[in-house]
Amino acid sequence: MAIVLGFFVAHWVLSVFMQTFFLHRYAAHRMFTMSPRAEKVAHFFTLLFQGSSYLNPRGYALLHREHHAFSDTDRDPHSPHTSKGFIDMNVRTATRYAGLWRGTIQPEPRFLGGYPTWPSLERVGDSWLTRLAFRAAYTVPYFLFAPHWAFFLLLPFHWFMGPLHGAIVNWCGHKYGYRNFENDDRSKNTLFFDFVTLGELFQNNHHRFGQSLNFAARAWEVDPAYWVIRALAAMGAIKIEKEQVMRFPDRPRHVAPDLHDASPADAE
Ligand SMILES: [Zn+2]
Ligand SMILES: [Zn+2]
Repeated sequence: MAIVLGFFVAHWVLSVFMQTFFLHRYAAHRMFTMSPRAEKVAHFFTLLFQGSSYLNPRGYALLHREHHAFSDTDRDPHSPHTSKGFIDMNVRTATRYAGLWRGTIQPEPRFLGGYPTWPSLERVGDSWLTRLAFRAAYTVPYFLFAPHWAFFLLLPFHWFMGPLHGAIVNWCGHKYGYRNFENDDRSKNTLFFDFVTLGELFQNNHHRFGQSLNFAARAWEVDPAYWVIRALAAMGAIKIEKEQVMRFPDRPRHVAPDLHDASPADAE
């Protein structure tokens, strides 16, 4: 049982870490820089750990930049406040993501550019064969170690891990929790210590200071991914050019404009 649960937790943590580290903070926001080689390593691990629910960095970045620009308005691709319900929000999210990624939906020019691309790896990650192979692979530890058939009910969570994390953040992060900042959307901070999505559930802090690498604002808030990213920078794997700090309650002087105020290019 410990092996099966350990496998589930490891897949959850590694998948959501690559989402927040590579897709969100790097691809969508460019909060730090990497050498081309390090970028490829990170992209490879994103495919490996997201596996059957690998999200394309370009599609993710475009969708996410729209979310910041139009947060909780009719043009937000995934606001719980402008959706008919949880399912409706996720269907709209998936449809818009697929359109932006495939190029059938054209985003505003200001959202374009600055995301990592690796066409051959993206083709592998987006193919049905790869997705099915990952789905089959996830069943192996269950067949070998699950003490009861009920454990197999966890398999769909493995298969759709990436969109599941997105759905939790998009729904809960704009619906449940407290607010540190009065900005013009309805974002919330859901947990004090975000052990579920490693920092992503500090939506209110993040919408107020869109370019701050640390999603925690108060002394007692913990953004776990931030500390891992700082460790990666200390080891030289990535480079944090100029770290922007948010402090509660005052807006500090050296914070770059967030995506509400500026184009992604300006935010770099
Ligand atoms: Zn949000
Ligand atoms: Zn963001």
